[in-house]
Amino acid sequence: MTTRVVVPREVVLTTRTNIAVRRTVPHRDLRRIGAWIFVDHFGPTTQTDGMVVAAHPHTGLQTVTWLFEGQVEHRDSIGSVQVIEPGQVNLMTAGKGISHSEISAHTEGNLHAVQLWLALPEADRDCTPFFEHRADLPVVTIDSATVTVFAGALLGVMSPATMFTDSFGAEVLLPAGEEVTIPVDPDHENGVLVVEGEATVNGTTTALTELAFVEPGSDSVTITAIGDVRLVLLGGTPFTERLVMWWNFVARSHNEIRSMRTDWESHGTRFPEFPDHIGGRIPAPELPNVTLQPRG
Ligand code: MN
Repeated sequence: MTTRVVVPREVVLTTRTNIAVRRTVPHRDLRRIGAWIFVDHFGPTTQTDGMVVAAHPHTGLQTVTWLFEGQVEHRDSIGSVQVIEPGQVNLMTAGKGISHSEISAHTEGNLHAVQLWLALPEADRDCTPFFEHRADLPVVTIDSATVTVFAGALLGVMSPATMFTDSFGAEVLLPAGEEVTIPVDPDHENGVLVVEGEATVNGTTTALTELAFVEPGSDSVTITAIGDVRLVLLGGTPFTERLVMWWNFVARSHNEIRSMRTDWESHGTRFPEFPDHIGGRIPAPELPNVTLQPRG
């Protein structure tokens, strides 16, 4: 079993406010963690400088929004309007196509969040889009750690959010100097993202904003807190389907991506319009001149 540290790259999202996020997946050092194909860490920043992401489309994936601090309103093209707060999860299953927008509330305090994408498997990727907000998440205490399971199953409990792959996501809080050993499926890939403090993961020092990737082959992940630490634990069965990921779309071929882009740019029926407090929409970038290739 090998554990290695992934140092995030900074990515500026093409939104109204040019939000900078720290991305550990996909990354030249880490393509996926199970079916988790996208891991963005945002903030902390003040709420008023926070998130203003105008309408944009998605296909072929599920988005998971999880806040540590702050408040964000989600709206989408199937009529959902949902404010999310820490301890709650927003899960949007894009399937054949949805568009959504996100705006942070203009309140006191900070915004601090992760946004995660899960690949949908071939059998489900063209499903009718749907949106879930779950505030009834299981919380488990193990050793000195407090673990909230927001997606999938871990430690004998299961999030009520709908999953299409054998994947899980959880937030872990561990006080300074404490150690926890969390049992995991040895067939899973696992990742531990440090969002507050610093930790060691299976003995490997993992600094704030870094992600420790644990290859399959171990039946547990051991975390030691260097100072109070807050972590996101992600894992799952290795996802072996070859994907074409471009902009906000997940597909299987260049032609599918081109068709999705055309549907967005032409205001096609795949992505209905919806009202929000932001207005407008994010235009798709130009497709590259080369044919996008599927990658495993
Ligand atoms: Mn989005």
